[in-house]
Amino acid sequence: MAYDQDNIFARIVRGEIPCHRVYEDADTLAFMDIMPQAEGHTLVVPKSAGEDIFSTSPEAAAAAMCTAQRVARAVKKAFAPPGIMIAQLNGAAAGQSVCHLHIHVIPRYVGKDLGIHAANPADHAVLAEHAARIRAAL
Ligand code: 5GP
Repeated sequence: MAYDQDNIFARIVRGEIPCHRVYEDADTLAFMDIMPQAEGHTLVVPKSAGEDIFSTSPEAAAAAMCTAQRVARAVKKAFAPPGIMIAQLNGAAAGQSVCHLHIHVIPRYVGKDLGIHAANPADHAVLAEHAARIRAAL
């Protein structure tokens, strides 16, 4: 499948669609998931085009993972969850719904199930406050 230049994350990277930004550098962008599976659920994308792990360069994938590590540390500091899940889905069969490579950083708690994937939009004011908390912990 050819990379869709107008997928939602490509448009966020180009600044055509707003996001609750957490971190940005030359190669990557991190922002709040608008349908979080837990409070603090953050997404990390490489800025370069690539729909999944197979079509993304090793350099871009490595840059995204470095940012995911940085963001995970900040999420841990900001929300103090006992666990953090790092997830990256490839293909519809794996649950991928946006075809621009992204890494999920999701707080996890003992005995608390993961929220449903891409199902429940969060309040924008809440997402803005969570993004500010994570930015302050970077
Ligand atoms: P995937 O299923 O591809 O691994 O994950 C896509 C993620 O993107 C989902 O968790 C979904 O909630 C999130 N998402 C979908 N549309 C948007 C959007 O417009 N903005 C943001 N920030 N997240 C989105």
